Amino acid sequence: MDNTTLTIIWTVIGIILFPIILKNKAPYGRHTTKKWGKTISNKAGWIIMELPALLICPLFYFTNTTNLPSLNTFFVGLWIIHYINRTIIFPFRIKTKGKKMPLAIALSAIFFNTINGVINGYFLSVTDYSLSNSPLIIAGFFIFFIGLVLNIHSDNKLISLRENTQVNNYTIPKGGLFNKISCPNYFGELTEWFGFAIMTFNIGSLSFFVWTFINLVPRALSHHNWYKINFENYPKNRKAIIPYIL
Ligand code: NDP
Repeated sequence: MDNTTLTIIWTVIGIILFPIILKNKAPYGRHTTKKWGKTISNKAGWIIMELPALLICPLFYFTNTTNLPSLNTFFVGLWIIHYINRTIIFPFRIKTKGKKMPLAIALSAIFFNTINGVINGYFLSVTDYSLSNSPLIIAGFFIFFIGLVLNIHSDNKLISLRENTQVNNYTIPKGGLFNKISCPNYFGELTEWFGFAIMTFNIGSLSFFVWTFINLVPRALSHHNWYKINFENYPKNRKAIIPYIL
């Protein structure tokens, strides 16, 4: 079986799992429960579960290509920027001291990030890019960049809401896109990988965008419902993840 077929199968598995993920909240952060067995530190969990994404795609790429000054290398560079933030900066900024996440969540994320890293590293090393695609590349880069800024800015805003010691203290985020949706950080992440898929135009990055949708839309809906249940005064006009739509 060739790698394109395998990637399509991997994406179809995600689509089949979507209704199951929709019904079951991923048990970390505000949705954490003790039912999922052994737990590990939240901060350590973030580092170990994102590390495969940071390492595997670039490792795969740099060991499989000799053409370093290329658009491909630029795309891998953007991947590295995203994952340096997610793996190294984000976990040291979150205020979740003493908070735990189920080991099962970290293991399933390691599994996902390993496969996703191999797929994207592979397709970024074999796809031939030329500047004749530049309208797509420029548009995709623009969308990716807006998503990256929105994701980091919104994560920062959420992190700043919490007093240092109270890990179960949540407040209603306000301002900017938070006035329109409950989870601008997820909307930013979705926008990022949508832009990346347009820019890199291969089945691997398209698969990653589909999987990001599958992971983040259910979680945004869970967060949105959680806010509505826990805050009587939660603004009624807010959507969960896509302004005015969802
Ligand atoms: P959340 O929005 O649940 O939380 C982000 C941080 O802010 C956490 O430390 C959380 O604390 C804190 N926080 C959130 N809301 C509030 C609030 N109202 N008051 C006080 N503190 C708050 O994001 P996730 O932890 O699920 O995800 C983090 C990042 O990882 C996001 O940028 C997301 O896009 C990305 N991600 C990407 C995925 C993908 O498939 N590509 C999958 C999952 C995440 P606490 O943890 O204690 O709730």
